[in-house]
Amino acid sequence: MNAIPLPCCLPTAPATTRRRVLAAGAVLSLGSAALAVDTGDWVEAEPGSAETPMCFFTAGMLSDFLGRLSGEPVAVMEVECRSKNDGRCRFVSASPDTLNAAYEQMTEGKSYEEALP
Ligand SMILES: [Zn+2]
Repeated sequence: MNAIPLPCCLPTAPATTRRRVLAAGAVLSLGSAALAVDTGDWVEAEPGSAETPMCFFTAGMLSDFLGRLSGEPVAVMEVECRSKNDGRCRFVSASPDTLNAAYEQMTEGKSYEEALP
């Protein structure tokens, strides 16, 4: 599993924000059918402010961005979030069918790592 640097995903953000995102982000494959986008310093998160992942704008933006790149519908779900005191924000992207199936298994108690093919 090779991580590659995450290109800046906030082209309109101030330069200081872009540098933070570039320094902290990575994209890597997760299982056989999903990608993970990780960052330990994501600007949308408010550490300790929630009990569930809260970076909804980012998840929607990534879904649109990755869908435009691939020409196919891409679903994105945040599975770890600094807002709930995880060490990073992790966004998982996959086809809508794959992510829906994983989500169903997660509601039955599996971790996202167990639920992804
Ligand atoms: Zn987050």
